[in-house]
Amino acid sequence: MKKVFIALATVGLLSALIWAVCSFCPRTYKATDYAMNTVVTITVKSTNPKADARMALQEVKRIDALMSATRSSSDVGRINSAAHGTRVRVSREVYSLIDMSLDISRKTDGAFDISINPLAELWNINSPNPGVPADSQIKAALSLVSYKDIALDPADSTVTLQKPGMSINLGAIAKGYAADSVAKILTDRGVSEAIVDLGGNVYVVGKEKTIGIQAPFKPRGAYFDVCKASDTSVVTSGAYERYFKAENGKIYHHILDPHTGYPAQNGIKSSTVICKSSALADGLSTAFYVLGESGAKKVISCFEGVEVILLTDKDRIVKLSN
Ligand code: ADP
Ligand code: MG
Repeated sequence: MKKVFIALATVGLLSALIWAVCSFCPRTYKATDYAMNTVVTITVKSTNPKADARMALQEVKRIDALMSATRSSSDVGRINSAAHGTRVRVSREVYSLIDMSLDISRKTDGAFDISINPLAELWNINSPNPGVPADSQIKAALSLVSYKDIALDPADSTVTLQKPGMSINLGAIAKGYAADSVAKILTDRGVSEAIVDLGGNVYVVGKEKTIGIQAPFKPRGAYFDVCKASDTSVVTSGAYERYFKAENGKIYHHILDPHTGYPAQNGIKSSTVICKSSALADGLSTAFYVLGESGAKKVISCFEGVEVILLTDKDRIVKLSN
């Protein structure tokens, strides 16, 4: 009887020991959810990956609630519903991201412009039945697109849209901002290995990973190039993500040229930006898509620590860096 007791106690002790050791062993956990109009996937390798991934998803949802253009209660919703000329006080985060957006606009000659919203709403590419708007409608919406008419006051974090009918949309930069913020939270929690992926807007936390660059119009996971990343973001913008085919067979997509009012067509199939700031990578991938190869070459000197991979319509790969 005594022997049985000792054997049982030993087994119990050993199990407890193994359990204690294993709770310090890093495990991998992958969480997926839908937020910011896209599929969000957080892959974490840590000792508490489930809790880390949950915190990450919570952060994406918090930023979505702050920056969504379609929620009237968000900071962006409040800016858009205020009458022109009204100073709207916003959170420091939204203020800074708008400030950064205006800086990108100035350096890309307006190829990136968050005041694109009237045009984005007119094209409404994500609706079940999108169509090509009339030229006159495009002209009217285009007259409202001008980042120079967004006024900021740092003293009280206010944003003012100066023209009647203007509105803004952070859709081309907010996912990057969210990736940066999630990466910071994970790093602060001691996570040394994670991939934050907001619909192709990727941030690699810690240990180096090889990231594939999606081949446009090919099944997900078909890559035309790869890059290595560690504590770095890789963001791709392309016509293949959100588009519709008109009756004439022409493809109309969601990246708009703020100078023409039409989907950008500057000889680019996809534009990838690799840099430390995911917000910058997101904004620039959109801007370089709009600018095309020659435009991208002109402005890249304004952005330090940035690598660019453009895939042209003729499937030529153009690599730029600064
Ligand atoms: P995705 O959201 O698919 O990653 P982007 O980052 O390129 O793609 O952002 C495209 C979204 O940003 C559009 O859906 C639209 O709301 C807005 N947008 C479109 N064109 C521009 C532009 N030239 N500058 C700023 N925002 C834009
Ligand atoms: Mg973008």
